[in-house]
Amino acid sequence: MRDEHFKVQMFRFVDVLASLHRGGEIVRHLDEYFTDMRNGFAPLVRTGVQAAKIVPWISGQLLRWNVSGMARQFIAGKNPHDVMKTLRKRRAKNIGFTVDLLGEAVVSEREATEYAARCLELLEYLAGETQGWIDQLGKNSELFPVVNLSVKISALYSQMNPADPADATAHLAPKLRPILRRARELGAFVNFDMESYAHKNITLELFKTLFTETEFHDWPHVGIVIQAYLRDAEADLFDLIDWGRARGTRFTVRLVKGAYWDYEKIKSSQNGWNIPVYLQKPESDVNFELLTRILLENEKNVTSAFGSHNVRSIAHAQALADQLGIDRSRFEFQLLYGMAGPIKRALVEMGYRVREYCPVGELLPGMSYLVRRLLENTSNEGFLRAKFSENVSEQQLLRDPRELLNGAAAPSATSVTTGDRQLPDGASVDVPPGDTYENASLVNFVYKENQEQMRAALRQMRTQLGKKYPLVINGEKIWTGKTIASFNPSSPKEIVGHVTEAGIPEAEHALEAARSASKQWSRTTIEERARLLERAAAIMERRRYELSALEVFEVGKPWAEADGDIREAMDFCLFYAQQMRLIGRPRLTQHVPGEESYQHYWPRGVALIVAPWNFPMAILCGMTSAALVTGNTAIIKPAEQAAVIGAMLMEIFAEAGVPPGVLNFLPGKGSIIGAHLVDHKDVNLIAFTGSREVGLRIWESAGQTRPGQLQLKHVVCEMGGKNGVIIDSDADLDEAIVDSIYSAFGYQGQKCSACSRLIVLEENYRRVMQRLLSAAASLRVGNPEEPGMTVGPVIDKTAYDRIQEYIEIGKSEATLAFQRKDVPAEGYFVPPTIFVDVTPEMRIAREEIFGPVLSVIKVRDLDEAIEVANSTDYALTAGFFSRSPGNIERAKAEIVAGNVYINRSCTGAVVGRHPFGGFKMSGGGTKAGGADYLLQFLLPRVVTENITRHGFAPEETPQYREEFLWPPKR
Ligand code: NDP
Repeated sequence: MRDEHFKVQMFRFVDVLASLHRGGEIVRHLDEYFTDMRNGFAPLVRTGVQAAKIVPWISGQLLRWNVSGMARQFIAGKNPHDVMKTLRKRRAKNIGFTVDLLGEAVVSEREATEYAARCLELLEYLAGETQGWIDQLGKNSELFPVVNLSVKISALYSQMNPADPADATAHLAPKLRPILRRARELGAFVNFDMESYAHKNITLELFKTLFTETEFHDWPHVGIVIQAYLRDAEADLFDLIDWGRARGTRFTVRLVKGAYWDYEKIKSSQNGWNIPVYLQKPESDVNFELLTRILLENEKNVTSAFGSHNVRSIAHAQALADQLGIDRSRFEFQLLYGMAGPIKRALVEMGYRVREYCPVGELLPGMSYLVRRLLENTSNEGFLRAKFSENVSEQQLLRDPRELLNGAAAPSATSVTTGDRQLPDGASVDVPPGDTYENASLVNFVYKENQEQMRAALRQMRTQLGKKYPLVINGEKIWTGKTIASFNPSSPKEIVGHVTEAGIPEAEHALEAARSASKQWSRTTIEERARLLERAAAIMERRRYELSALEVFEVGKPWAEADGDIREAMDFCLFYAQQMRLIGRPRLTQHVPGEESYQHYWPRGVALIVAPWNFPMAILCGMTSAALVTGNTAIIKPAEQAAVIGAMLMEIFAEAGVPPGVLNFLPGKGSIIGAHLVDHKDVNLIAFTGSREVGLRIWESAGQTRPGQLQLKHVVCEMGGKNGVIIDSDADLDEAIVDSIYSAFGYQGQKCSACSRLIVLEENYRRVMQRLLSAAASLRVGNPEEPGMTVGPVIDKTAYDRIQEYIEIGKSEATLAFQRKDVPAEGYFVPPTIFVDVTPEMRIAREEIFGPVLSVIKVRDLDEAIEVANSTDYALTAGFFSRSPGNIERAKAEIVAGNVYINRSCTGAVVGRHPFGGFKMSGGGTKAGGADYLLQFLLPRVVTENITRHGFAPEETPQYREEFLWPPKR
């Protein structure tokens, strides 16, 4: 398939087909996927679709039948009984098997238990059916049991979290032991398959832990996978070999290249992680050969299974084994069912041991597996494609991958436009830096070192709890004698810190300081202000774990959520610094002879920053850094519940060198000092994020002009949401369930972006609910000091009581479908709760609850779904899960929300990538982390000069000029 677009459409269509049951639906999708095709296939497809429209029922059936046929090529059987037919045929050809159970992704413990039961059942069946089968080679057969089961570890525990290997082992080991025990009794072999990088370390640890146990330590018929495309592969293999040697019993390593290459690259790029895989295909091939050598050189302790279709990789293993004097019967080649038949035949003829990797499962639900295989078959770099469809010469196929490596171009680094450019109008070559922004990275808790650092930070932070923090006004620390205590919501007896409480006199003092500092700060260069933000970001990076640990204690954030908050704060600093450099310099408005007009910006003056507790560092820092970089001075009023984190932000900016008075830290009661400053004639700008109630009050108050007030107040106002997620009838439920559950219950539903209404089309309502409820029942709820928790405590007693009240309202209005029972008794833990039979006018469907409570609304069709989604006062975020291109386009056009997310979670906006904020009662339409956010903090100004003297004017006027500052600063 040379046409990339056609290929993508084809695979996507195959992927959705399993969820389509009616002929009309199948034809509609076919139409949507293919009719806009502008290539050689177009006339063919158009005719096909036209024909299908005439008899949709028959065409639908025909298509399903055809695709099932395609699936049958790669799936060895629908069920154990079916697969045995295949295995018998293969046996006649001297090909062995390992079976792998296909199915949907496991999203709940119920599904994980079902998978474990299916594994056991399959083992029993295969052992029964293969009795009397003897080894194909009749030599060294004790190393290679006939029955061989490949187990997907992620299918045995739905809550596997890379940050918490101990928890994973604690849940996986009990599910695996019965399978292993029975396999051993039956004389079978069990292989642990390797999946994405996020699960790799856990899988390796689990393997070593289980097979060191007394019961299994002398069992040789166990194997694990090493993926040669991983940079870690060599170290992991040596570690395994050392372990195996110490264990004193053989084991097997299946060496493969790896099947998640695209996924790993995408995921790492999105999170700013080092890419764990080699970027060039020949690098994996080279590594495969290196690992082959290591394996064969350690043949005494480890049995090798080479999983490759690449004749060069295979030939290399053969040659090396010969060289080392290893008999052909002591290792094996593993190839995928349905692929590379001639290679398998040749290997058998040459006297090698060959095993097929045989997926077993229903054909249509196994589509995602099929798509992966099809992609592998047709990928441009795939060996199979080269071998079987492009007739590449033998010499080329057997070429040493090192040669290709040397010749290959180095991977291109993402380029950032920084250089000078000639503008099309020739006006100026002087342009500001480019607008590509590279985000700060998240901490990757896959790595043990990072887990250790977080644990150490938590221990260290515990010793700091209870400290006192001053106000900071005009660069001075001030203690008023009154303090506000901040509590740990997981353990309310624990005081995180005492923050000095400001009253009205301190508010006046802070305002005075901010006003006097304003003159100087507004005249500081953009570059200097941008650098202040960059230094602050660097300090956050240095103190990253400490700050995350503080968030765990003060606001109950799970590890990854806390880290995400610090990353976002860093991003705000770095992004706004870059944006200010982009927009800040005076810019020519128009090229006109004889006159130059430059537009530029002045700060508004004194900014009051009022922040909520739920993204305690990010939101506070975002609004503050925007105010400072634009030349405003600021007073920050953190939320009481997160005041210690506010104090940290002040510390960070002080260390970064913010001049006295430019930033003033004023914790206290919002209703007293917040309200006082909001109403104050000398406050020019209010940046607020918080509840609708307070936001509207601020909006209204700012509209009044007080005696002596010299400037109109500007309000940046971000408020709550009642965010709806629609699940279309053809949605990929593996994705939709996991993402909806995370959107609704991640950080206990206390994100303004959280999903609180799930709108489900009746066609797949039953299936959605079945999977949703068991997924909710499987969530990890508990103290977020433990790694890998999804649901922790809500912020305080007031929130706890309010949410409980809403749960009672829900019980009276709708039907309680699910509520967790096992939440910790201490701390403000609200059990994740799901209501069904909810209708749009109910209070639980309209009011922001801000806790782990989800309302499910069943709708007839997409028309009704969109109507319901848009039927609230709010318009913050929304989600849509669908595989219909037409419906996706419609959702993009019609869903009313500031941030519309398609086929992904509706939380987790990234600075620069997803400018964040809503409208209607969710906010004033500003976008934090977006290109135009800083304009909210600025006043535009234009300076025009007639540059004609006696009829003569310069021919060129620069596009940008230096800032208007006097005396000029160079
Ligand atoms: P609140 O509105 O209760 O508090 C926000 C801030 O306003 C706090 O610092 C509070 O101080 C202060 N405040 C309270 N009363 C006044 C007043 N009269 N005048 C001035 N300031 C006042 O919100 P929460 O902290 O509870 O945050 C949760 C809310 O924030 C949710 O509604 C959520 O949806 C929304 N939110 C919106 C986001 C968005 O981007 N749209 C992002 C994050 C949250 P004190 O702590 O002393 O009461």
